[in-house]
Amino acid sequence: MTFEIQAECPETRARAGLLHTPHGTIETPVFMPVGTQATVKGLTQKDLAADLGVQILLANTYHLFLRPGHELILKMGGLHRFMSWPNAILTDSGGFQVFSLSGMRKIDDGGVVFQSHLNGDLHRFTPESTVDIQLAYGSDVLMVLDECPEYPVSHEYARDSMRRTVRWATEANHHFLRRMETMPTRHALFPIVQGSMFPDLRRDCAEALVELDTDGYAIGGLSVGEPRPLSLEAVEATEGILPRCKPRYAMGVGMPAELPEYVARGVDMMDCVLPSRNARNGYLFTSEGRVIIKHARYKDDEGPLDPKCTCYTCMSYSRAYLRHLFQSGEILYSVLATRHNIQRYLDIMREIRHAIISGSFPEYLKCVRSTCVEAESSPFGS
Ligand SMILES: [Zn+2]
Repeated sequence: MTFEIQAECPETRARAGLLHTPHGTIETPVFMPVGTQATVKGLTQKDLAADLGVQILLANTYHLFLRPGHELILKMGGLHRFMSWPNAILTDSGGFQVFSLSGMRKIDDGGVVFQSHLNGDLHRFTPESTVDIQLAYGSDVLMVLDECPEYPVSHEYARDSMRRTVRWATEANHHFLRRMETMPTRHALFPIVQGSMFPDLRRDCAEALVELDTDGYAIGGLSVGEPRPLSLEAVEATEGILPRCKPRYAMGVGMPAELPEYVARGVDMMDCVLPSRNARNGYLFTSEGRVIIKHARYKDDEGPLDPKCTCYTCMSYSRAYLRHLFQSGEILYSVLATRHNIQRYLDIMREIRHAIISGSFPEYLKCVRSTCVEAESSPFGS
């Protein structure tokens, strides 16, 4: 996997680039829709690839490990073939889900034992096993197993936890490089910068991980309940440490108005469940701000959801019809709403990329900050 920088903003750390993977080239900065169970809920793979232009999807190691299992996915020819997805796939390591979803978990230096949230079975993830699971999926970009502490934690806990994450990243990377010697396919492994909201720990962690000289770096432990300015500070702490020539991925962020803020801090890749989850809950992102579709004011609104959007939903249906579908609990509502919200996120990233390449990103950022139409906090979390 190679990363090519096409343009850099002279005033911020924003850059536009091309990430070349075995499953196509990705234009960055990029937003990756989340396909937790090897599907973005409500959309077909054709909707995603052909209509929305999605170049990379995220799938969750934890969920797919529990069901249907990595052995079955391997037997079915890997995740690309299993889910009929032609473009790139990034998988997380399962760390975040183990720490946020599983009923019980016990961490030791070698890994983590956890209880399935589906049936209570006990499983163990190690730095090596999560690499093997993701290679069975055939992911283009793999993540190392990390510990994702909740917020807030003490400095002492965050330090010990961060050191464990660095050790695990080192072990995962050794194992990954050994596996690569005998595999015919190419993959990339990203370690994850942790350290809770302590800038000194974030810096120490980034410095230690850069030693591994991997193909890219992720910044994790964000969107775990901390105030939003702290998430941005956690990213800023890595400034000047994570190498310029490698892609940087901020995990699990953010609201629409936050996307350019991360890009301004040198982030190239982001993922978030917000556009798809909020769509299903009736919370829609538009160029004019949020629309809560159940509100009575939309009941006879003949206009499109977002007059500036060119997605199929906005080109074909009225707010009144979308509201009716939502109120009736129709499946089509989720399909149309998800399609729009994902397109909105992709459009924002395309605007950002265009602004970086044309040299107008500082003005773009100023404009977003002054209007901030979508900065209201979401009632459904992130
Ligand atoms: Zn639309």
